[in-house]
Amino acid sequence: MDQQALTSLTSGLRGEVITPGDEGYDEARRVWNGTVAKRPALIVKCSGVADVIDAVKFAKASDLGVSVRGGGHHVAGAALIEGGLVIDLSPMRSVRVDLESRTVRAEGGALLGDVDRETQAFGLAVPLGLFSDTGIAGLTLAGGYGWLRRKYGLSCDNLISADVVTAEGRLVKASATENADLFWALRGGGWDLGVVTSFEFRAYLVSAEMFFVFVTYPVADTRSVLAGFHRFMETAPREASPIAVVWTLPASEPYPEEVWGQSFVGIAGPYDAPPSEGEPAMQPLRELGTPLLDMSGAMPYTMIQRLFDEEYPKGRRYYWKSTYLRDLDEAAISELSKIGGQRPSPLTSLDVWPLGGAVSDVRSGDSVVGHRDAKYLIGLESNWEDAAQDAANIAWARDGQAALAPHSTGGSYLNFEDLSETNVVAASHGPSLARLIEVKRKYDANNLFRSRRGLVD
Ligand SMILES: Cc1cc2nc3c(=O)[nH]c(=O)nc-3n(C[C@H](O)[C@H](O)[C@H](O)COP(=O)(O)OP(=O)(O)OC[C@H]3O[C@@H](n4cnc5c(N)ncnc54)[C@H](O)[C@@H]3O)c2cc1C
Repeated sequence: MDQQALTSLTSGLRGEVITPGDEGYDEARRVWNGTVAKRPALIVKCSGVADVIDAVKFAKASDLGVSVRGGGHHVAGAALIEGGLVIDLSPMRSVRVDLESRTVRAEGGALLGDVDRETQAFGLAVPLGLFSDTGIAGLTLAGGYGWLRRKYGLSCDNLISADVVTAEGRLVKASATENADLFWALRGGGWDLGVVTSFEFRAYLVSAEMFFVFVTYPVADTRSVLAGFHRFMETAPREASPIAVVWTLPASEPYPEEVWGQSFVGIAGPYDAPPSEGEPAMQPLRELGTPLLDMSGAMPYTMIQRLFDEEYPKGRRYYWKSTYLRDLDEAAISELSKIGGQRPSPLTSLDVWPLGGAVSDVRSGDSVVGHRDAKYLIGLESNWEDAAQDAANIAWARDGQAALAPHSTGGSYLNFEDLSETNVVAASHGPSLARLIEVKRKYDANNLFRSRRGLVD
């Protein structure tokens, strides 16, 4: 690195530059997944668009690869680049709601909780994911499934425009009418095309309180519960976007002591309407067997958005895989039941996300998130504490994905994926991959942004 250029970068910034010898370096390179140990050459904490432009120009002149850190939540640590330059947007988290147009402007480092806090002050919500400290950027740029997905689609489906600093260090706007090719690509294939400094979203009036189902059944009932869940979802209204999960009840409050540590198959999710409408609509999900524990009830949307935050702490060991299922027939259910019964850690979960509704209003070829016609998305989330258990936990997720292959569309979801295999790119983008690569070559011909392999290298 040219020291003079580095000094010039540092003195011009409103933010700060952190390099390996600096006191804050280890903290600055820590991401959510405790197994990630990448060592970037420098981390530029940006306070605004001007800082981002300078950082991009410096990286280009120094021939350094770049990654962008939004919330730093991706399971493979894609926010960091080994030996390269990290553009860290964590100081850029402002959110502005426009009540008249029901739109929201959020900076590239904002977290889900930032957007929820500002929108809920006015009874609005942007369809985002389930955990409040996930970054809106990584989530939206690769898709974004949440509790409102079947009613309003993915987060990326609700993007109206984005401000992007390109590999040339130019600020451009991407929308349906400006740089439309880039806008198309950002909505699901948006990593490594540029730095999105600001997102503009559509927001919706949601019920301030919703009925939230959280019912658990003994894990031995997995087959019958999943079969009943599937029957319910076949005719469920779009207001219902629950998930099914095979997991273990934590040994802590607010769970009653008699069920601590018990494995279960459960259903969780809200109904986007006043609770008086949601409760009867979701009742069948509470009668799929004899519950171990039923904690369903009305709760504020802001609470729903934070409900499972504590179960996914920063620094734990994580390894995730995923697959889209064509359907949830008997054979797929039988495989899921087997996989759920073999979880090597009580923290590990097997998640079944019904899609359909607004998710499949968009056709696969029209979106960079492939597999819009899949009926279910499966998350194989290995979560554990002890490094000695790494091999068993990684194997469970990988073997589970392989075992589900006969039932899969062949696709997986970038946001739930370990990125070490190059086929992840093709599996995530489906029929849109060739067009995505064209956009990448147009906006980043020299592959400056390279947080993931397999797109053009
Ligand atoms: C506990 C937990 C819960 C989750 N729940 C859900 C869920 O409910 N639904 C769902 O769909 N997903 C969920 N995810 C997955 C989540 O969507 C991804 O991890 C997502 O990539 C995180 O976004 P981030 O900004 O924190 O990512 P980061 O790790 O910061 O970055 C991920 C990728 O995005 C790029 N990037 C980040 N910011 C920008 C930017 N501003 N401009 C350009 N590129 C950028 C990075 O270079 C990197 O390639 C969850 C993840 C966790 C850890």
